[in-house]
Amino acid sequence: MTSSRLARRIAIIGGGPRGLWAVEELIERARIPIDVTVFDPYPAGAGAVYRPQQPPLWRLNVNCSVVTTAHDDFNAWRSRRGGDTTDAFPPRAEVGQFLADTWSAALHRAPTHVRIRHLPHRVSEVSSDGEGFVVDGSPFDDVLVCTGHGHMHAGSLVQESSRVPVTGLYFGADLPSAPRRIGVRGAALSFIDVCLLYGDTAEVIYPVSRSGRFMEVKPSPETPLPEVSTRWRQACAQITNAGDLREILIGAAAEFGDFSRAELAAVIDGQDFTGDTVAELEASLRAAEGTGPLTPATAVGAAFRGVFQDCVDWHKAHGPMPGFRELSRTLERVSFGPPPVTARRLLELIHSGVVDTQYLRTPEQIDSWRENGGVDLLIDATVAPQATPSPFHDVPGVVEIGRMNELFLPGHDSLNRLVHDDIPRWAEKVGNP
Ligand SMILES: Cc1cc2nc3c(=O)[nH]c(=O)nc-3n(C[C@H](O)[C@H](O)[C@H](O)COP(=O)(O)OP(=O)(O)OC[C@H]3O[C@@H](n4cnc5c(N)ncnc54)[C@H](O)[C@@H]3O)c2cc1C
Repeated sequence: MTSSRLARRIAIIGGGPRGLWAVEELIERARIPIDVTVFDPYPAGAGAVYRPQQPPLWRLNVNCSVVTTAHDDFNAWRSRRGGDTTDAFPPRAEVGQFLADTWSAALHRAPTHVRIRHLPHRVSEVSSDGEGFVVDGSPFDDVLVCTGHGHMHAGSLVQESSRVPVTGLYFGADLPSAPRRIGVRGAALSFIDVCLLYGDTAEVIYPVSRSGRFMEVKPSPETPLPEVSTRWRQACAQITNAGDLREILIGAAAEFGDFSRAELAAVIDGQDFTGDTVAELEASLRAAEGTGPLTPATAVGAAFRGVFQDCVDWHKAHGPMPGFRELSRTLERVSFGPPPVTARRLLELIHSGVVDTQYLRTPEQIDSWRENGGVDLLIDATVAPQATPSPFHDVPGVVEIGRMNELFLPGHDSLNRLVHDDIPRWAEKVGNP
């Protein structure tokens, strides 16, 4: 038997950030010979979300200071290349180049008993054969699934009949170069990507959503918001359900300004809509840039971001928090919205009339366009819901890490590798069985 036949065969399905982190951890931890195959049709390390070939106008929505890998971090990497290190929300394509470079560096660093290869292939079948697994016909001893965002979801408009062309935005979507009149399903982060892509060429872009609201703007790093005080973070350890978390958020947000309890509670319950979406976005941007006061919504957003890691830790210790899923639906809008740089561009397009909000609260308009026309292109800018299981979730013994676990264990839908330790723990186990 050759040493290669003795090696433990590990399949990693999904070569985005989590697939990369898993490879890095195996390199550090494996003491036995291992043979790792990473399956992904997209570039290894970057994956589909951060593929370097995407439009450079599409930006990161999180401060890039959180982007680290086992041996490097994004800011150090771009500084070594003489890049601009002041831009906290750089293009996703640039972050993807960093992740792809990190992948190459990992291959060079791997010791001889760790063999790694990337197969540019989309896996369609995984089965268990008692002893191990079969992945599209090849045998493996362990399978890690980190397939991230589902690329197509059951409710996607792309699957519906329509008089006007309908497309998604990412993952191989065939986007025309300059459509004039665009209807968009969704008003969240992906809608802003539509605006960044077509804002200079479109005559009009109509967002349509159920809530009729944009997301609250994240603070600029130059004008950081005050920190949540330690007592609120410590109080999270005593939580029994989301009702307790709600009280903590109200208490923490109240310290950020002169807000009434009713105002803050209304934000958390999603009952604070004034009816003027654009004025709300303007106020949110001013608060984020430090040129205007915090609003109740931006204060609650800051409070939730401040205790988010404590909520993750609570879930790790106790399992799903009763009521958290419902609560996080409104908190997502106020806490994890766009950075000032892209929110500013959205407002410019609104003020110049390119983005027209007349259908923002009229979800029926989507069906009207599909049936009667009226736009040149309909873009579905919604993504697969969190916790959509991977196609391989029911194969016994397969380990899944990432967005599919998000609702019972929050903190996976992120580029921040320090929120969870599940990948190092997995690597320790499979690298030293
Ligand atoms: C458009 C978009 C923008 C985002 N922006 C941010 C952001 O700015 N900041 C942030 O923190 N988070 C962002 N996210 C969230 C994102 O989920 C995480 O940042 C991160 O990409 C998660 O990494 P991952 O490796 O778990 O999953 P992914 O990055 O989604 O990688 C999964 C990989 O699995 C591959 N794959 C899927 N199915 C198969 C299969 N059957 N066979 C082989 N390979 C497969 C895919 O091609 C993909 O490359 C964004 C998500 C999207 C969709």
